[in-house]
Amino acid sequence: MTGTSQKSRRELIQRPKGTQDLFGTEVERWESVESLCRLHFQNAGYQEVRTPVFEHTELFERGVGEGTDIVNKEMYTFEKSERRLSLRPEGTAGVVRAFIEQGMARWPKPVKLYYMGPMFRYERPQAGRQRQFHQVGLELFGLDTPAADAEAILMAMRLFEQLGLPNLSLQINNIGTAECRERFKAGFKALLAPILTQLCLDCQTRYGSNPLRMLDCKNPGCQAIYAQPDLQAFLQTDFTSEDCQAHFAELLKLLDALKVPYHRNFMLVRGLDYYTKTVFEITSTNLGAQNAVCGGGRYNTLVEDLGGPETPAIGWALGMERLMALVGELPVKPLDYYLVTDQHAAAFDLAEQLRAQDYKVEVDLSGKGFGKQLERAAKLNARQALILGSAEVHSGEVQLKNLASKEQRVVPYALLLQGNPE
Ligand code: ATP
Ligand code: MG
Repeated sequence: MTGTSQKSRRELIQRPKGTQDLFGTEVERWESVESLCRLHFQNAGYQEVRTPVFEHTELFERGVGEGTDIVNKEMYTFEKSERRLSLRPEGTAGVVRAFIEQGMARWPKPVKLYYMGPMFRYERPQAGRQRQFHQVGLELFGLDTPAADAEAILMAMRLFEQLGLPNLSLQINNIGTAECRERFKAGFKALLAPILTQLCLDCQTRYGSNPLRMLDCKNPGCQAIYAQPDLQAFLQTDFTSEDCQAHFAELLKLLDALKVPYHRNFMLVRGLDYYTKTVFEITSTNLGAQNAVCGGGRYNTLVEDLGGPETPAIGWALGMERLMALVGELPVKPLDYYLVTDQHAAAFDLAEQLRAQDYKVEVDLSGKGFGKQLERAAKLNARQALILGSAEVHSGEVQLKNLASKEQRVVPYALLLQGNPE
């Protein structure tokens, strides 16, 4: 081994930029939100789907779209056995691939799925923006009805209400179909032609390839141009077909009836290629610059684009990191008993019986004196300590010590196992 490699072996290795270690009570907070999501989905008939964390790169090129920032700049792509693979930057493409590959297209409609897990995008890390982040998402396949849109949106809004998220706003728009957008493009491009050079280089490229995407630009200079009155007036004239407009009107009627407030945002186009008709984003003013906690929309051609049968669908994904930043205090399960002991066989046995009754129990493993063990129990905020020495084992009893009041009494095992004898 060379001197350099010996030295580098001792150097501290840190986590990659834009990633996080989660541990302790933060993981408990995540777990309780994840369980709540699962319950919320399962209660409405959605089933979990778990797809690989990496897929063939072509899936994202075709699914997310070759002109998108995600595919052009943000994917972690590598080669193995001459195949290009990418870490998934989002969940929908993989779920649609599985939907087709697993024959779910033949299941009775609608097919209702959800997923959760890590996603990877090579972006500039900042508050609310990471390179490995986590999404929870929902996909509803097989129906092109306003009711399906309403249910998908309601599933997100009601979840956030249950979690008590503050200052939410549902931004919604109708971007029509590809044919509708052709009508939009011509007028939009004509308005922008004289000032094209004032736009950022990305927007100038999008002008040629996908003008609608220009509205999604984060550059403040471009945003100021798009906010000008003549462009705004143009944007607010609905360019979509009668069918798309009727679908959207029906959806808004349902949202009104359900008392879900929304804001029609004509600038909302979403960054991915596959959307049709309804698109939406749920933002919170408590989040700062990265204010979207959830985004989604209808994608009526994606299943076909990826080689499946014609299948309309709608879905959304929420960002767990941003969601967790908005979730307030969550109840963490308290430690019911801390077992202070030098009799480990009996202590483990008692702990297992208590845990079977859903008590949270820890057994001291240190072999230290009981005084030190009680200090540890207090540090862990245990509600009670159970002292189990050889005398107690012989008599089939434990000393129950309330750590707040310091009150201590002898309780037979049997009584302890019958319920909390507080
Ligand atoms: P943004 O406009 O914030 O870049 P996006 O449109 O790229 O979001 P989607 O692809 O719709 O995001 O993903 C859905 C959600 O996932 C977002 O609303 C956000 O909460 C979360 N998200 C997306 N990218 C990141 C990231 N790099 N780090 C953390 N969360 C993210
Ligand atoms: Mg983004």
